[in-house]
Amino acid sequence: MTGADPSIDSRRGAAHRAFLAVVEGAIRAGGVVPCVSDGAGWLSSVAAEQEKAARECRRCPALAACWQYENDYPERSGVYAGRTENERKKGRR
Ligand code: SF4
Repeated sequence: MTGADPSIDSRRGAAHRAFLAVVEGAIRAGGVVPCVSDGAGWLSSVAAEQEKAARECRRCPALAACWQYENDYPERSGVYAGRTENERKKGRR
């Protein structure tokens, strides 16, 4: 990101690491994080595949942390916290 405030990148990076720590903790505890075990639909550009992935998020033990991270630092693409790319974009309007 050219010209971006480096402190924003730093906070985003810290938030992302904290989110990943929750994901790793959930996996170490024996939980199944669907996008880690089968990530194809989460990055798909096909709406039906994203919708299926979003439904899988509902059983994710890291769902709350995922929602918080994506809410604070919106990602441009992919499925996060049970919401497709389009749903997340609509939610930000
Ligand atoms: S809630 Fe987040 S971490 Fe969990 S499967 Fe969905 S995208 Fe992955």
